[in-house]
Amino acid sequence: MVDLQIVIQTEDNRVFYDMPEFSPCTQCGACCRHFRVSFYQGELDSFPGGFVPVELTSVVTPFLVCMKGTEQGGARCIALQPDNRCSIYAQRPTPCREFPVYMEDGSLNSQCVRLRLLHGINMPEPPAKAA
Ligand code: SF4
Ligand code: SF4
Repeated sequence: MVDLQIVIQTEDNRVFYDMPEFSPCTQCGACCRHFRVSFYQGELDSFPGGFVPVELTSVVTPFLVCMKGTEQGGARCIALQPDNRCSIYAQRPTPCREFPVYMEDGSLNSQCVRLRLLHGINMPEPPAKAA
């Protein structure tokens, strides 16, 4: 999977995914325009150990925030750039890190397929090499 996406096992046994420079996401961005991207406020950089820029978020509940723009779902995250790259990639919140593009067998995540179809985005070419 090294050529497709980088799998990171966190210390608390969660699985995060990083994408290489060129990935199906750069022609897509559908998940950043579809979901309400909400997460625990402790991830905000206004909290000790937090990293998500607080000025790019909105309050949802006393403990939950979301990326600005995604409050109602179905709209663009404020951090999504015109080239479909994330302007805060290294500081993006947990839900963005936990959403894989590829499954273990190298196939596309069915949620990506669903979103791409919904947004009229063509399916990417199959990966040249799946480890
Ligand atoms: S829907 Fe899937 S392919 Fe599209 S940007 Fe999100 S993770 Fe990438
Ligand atoms: S923070 Fe970045 S990865 Fe997450 S929804 Fe916004 S643009 Fe997408």
